[in-house]
Amino acid sequence: MIFRQLYDKQSSTYTYLLASRLGGEAVLIDPVEEYANMYVTLIEQLGLRLVYALDTHTHADHITALGALREHTGCITAMGDRTRAECVDLKLAEDEVLDVDGIKLRALFTPGHTDESMSFAMDDRVFTGDVLLYRGTGRTDFQGGDPHKSWDSIVNKLFHLSNDTLIYAAHDYKGWTVSTIGEEKQYNPRIANRTEVEYVAIMNSLNLPDPKLMDIAVPANLVCGRKVDK
Ligand code: FE
Repeated sequence: MIFRQLYDKQSSTYTYLLASRLGGEAVLIDPVEEYANMYVTLIEQLGLRLVYALDTHTHADHITALGALREHTGCITAMGDRTRAECVDLKLAEDEVLDVDGIKLRALFTPGHTDESMSFAMDDRVFTGDVLLYRGTGRTDFQGGDPHKSWDSIVNKLFHLSNDTLIYAAHDYKGWTVSTIGEEKQYNPRIANRTEVEYVAIMNSLNLPDPKLMDIAVPANLVCGRKVDK
């Protein structure tokens, strides 16, 4: 399998390229618009054909490359079926499986960071977007975020995956690149040995500033990253 973890240091976003073999079909998860040309070059260099570009949720801190990649490559753009982004070609329902040349990505509805967040699970790993991060969790204070739903998605859905499932999140701010379900159960400081009430209190007291690009990124991402005239 080909697996690449690409990083945008401006928004601390991870983008994932997956393909089952050289010369085969590929999928990009959470691509960032300003790197669209770089992704296309890398995909060409590996002899791949981009068939899907996928976002875990409507990002508030960067502009998605979904629209740009569709224009460049003709790929199919996809998100979870609760998205408000009418521009996407394919809206994946809970438990729906996207088969990319034998790589099977199963959609898991994991709201909490936003009300439309999806995670995508493979046999050995899960792409959690921003709902579950490395030793952290995604903020729950905008775009329909809800700390109760975040707890439920993490504890009652993602934590039901096997302990050795690798976690690949959409962000990290501290230098982490991967974790496992077992590790986060044991060591995630917001969740391990805590109750839902404690978790909600933590999330409601974070008082984080809005992302710098939020007013630009959210409307742009609802049209797959193509420019919005104000
Ligand atoms: Fe996010």
